[in-house]
Amino acid sequence: MALHLHNTLSRKVEPFEPLDPDGSVGMYCCGPTVHDFAHIGNFRTFVFADLVRRYLEFRGYDVNHVMNITDVEDKIIRRVREQNTTLTEYTAQYEDAFFADLKVLNCTEAHHIPKATDHIPEMIDIISKLMERGIAYQASDQSIYFSIENYQGCGCQYGRLVKLNFEEMRQGERVSDDEYEKESVADFALWKARTEEDGEVYWPSPWGEGRPGWHIECSAMSMKLLGTSFDLHLGGEDLAFPHHEDEIAQSEGATGKPFVKYWLHGAHLLVEGKKMSKSLGNFFTLRDLIEKGYDGREVRQLMISAHYRETFNFTMAGLDGAHTAMARIDECVAKLRDAKADAGDVTAEPSAEVIEKFTAALDDDLNVSSAWGVVFDWVRDCNRRLAENQMDAATAAAELAAWERIDTVLGVGKAEEEAPKELTALLEERAEARAAKDFARADAIRDELAEKGWAIEDTAKGAKLKRL
Ligand code: AMP
Ligand code: ZN
Repeated sequence: MALHLHNTLSRKVEPFEPLDPDGSVGMYCCGPTVHDFAHIGNFRTFVFADLVRRYLEFRGYDVNHVMNITDVEDKIIRRVREQNTTLTEYTAQYEDAFFADLKVLNCTEAHHIPKATDHIPEMIDIISKLMERGIAYQASDQSIYFSIENYQGCGCQYGRLVKLNFEEMRQGERVSDDEYEKESVADFALWKARTEEDGEVYWPSPWGEGRPGWHIECSAMSMKLLGTSFDLHLGGEDLAFPHHEDEIAQSEGATGKPFVKYWLHGAHLLVEGKKMSKSLGNFFTLRDLIEKGYDGREVRQLMISAHYRETFNFTMAGLDGAHTAMARIDECVAKLRDAKADAGDVTAEPSAEVIEKFTAALDDDLNVSSAWGVVFDWVRDCNRRLAENQMDAATAAAELAAWERIDTVLGVGKAEEEAPKELTALLEERAEARAAKDFARADAIRDELAEKGWAIEDTAKGAKLKRL
């Protein structure tokens, strides 16, 4: 089976066939709005995007991954004003924190990370095209709005990702806020004329000083880096309307070309069955969980344990479950490494069976539950063969190679820890002491190593250090 993905445009699971048959894939994921520390709900979406990127690469595609930084929009401007600071100073702290958190979650860095504030000319260019085509207009507040009526008049369809009830459409209504009521069909702001509340956050434009609307930012950055038509656009489900719907309208309205082939939306994360909120006390950033003693691997494992289109109920018990799951994998992998030790550094072909099953699971619209099932069956089978002494070094090497391949997608594995140089020097000293029959010194070194958390393991190839 080839890779299949659910496309919000068709509301169906479709075979994934990129626009370019040469195997390159353009993928855009709406990035964070850097107005605060990102919460674990946000990270569910970013880990989902990372899974898509890693799996496409596992399937041999050459992915060009773009994730933007929304560093100017209503919420940010409000905070800049409240804190009497500058836009750059305010957003930089949350941007840095966001990338540090992504690292903790072992998310692969996007190839391009454009910032909205660096792409104002590209936004103005799209708005100018929409003005030329009569799809945008300047209103009495001097702001530029997207005209849904004129867009439809050009034979275009508004309401592609969500079904909209045009009967209830309030004619002539417009919104200037970046985030507006769900499914209210209204002309939205492309360029917002400068107001007093904007402080120093404004740029010149052919229509006067002002700043871009949020939606135009993503159209400009994605098309600049991936072209007018590209393969994949991702985000959380709340972005489908109006953000993504407006992105389609602005982009197709300006270029006259299809914007994106596949739209993927990740469902939301709830905490203990409820929408996260500070007042309910169920609001967590990644930092909160790290402070509680969990690690990034556990959070990541939990986040990719459920299908991306299912609402995910995050619980502390679930995180403890992830801890146990990771320990089972770590233990099995450590035993395989031991069993493989005698095969030396030969590069083994990954054992095919587990890889085939894992691929079949993820080809089915990233069915992670089934993929984890394959992984844990494999762990059980390896443990049994290890216990029954049916795992020779070459087989262990093949199983380990399979795990390493699978983990290029899951990204939860723990690298084999190498002992620091001063400890391997002690190990050599112990070998010399033993050769000189100075067993007291050899034992003292063993104790010293144990105190530092390392055990000596005698193998056919000599003594090795292993984490206790
Ligand atoms: P923002 O920084 O608010 O622009 O959001 C960044 C990403 O997080 C977007 O793709 C949102 O759709 C997503 N998101 C927001 N809240 C949640 C949540 N509770 N669960 C999953 N994703 C979310
Ligand atoms: Zn976006």
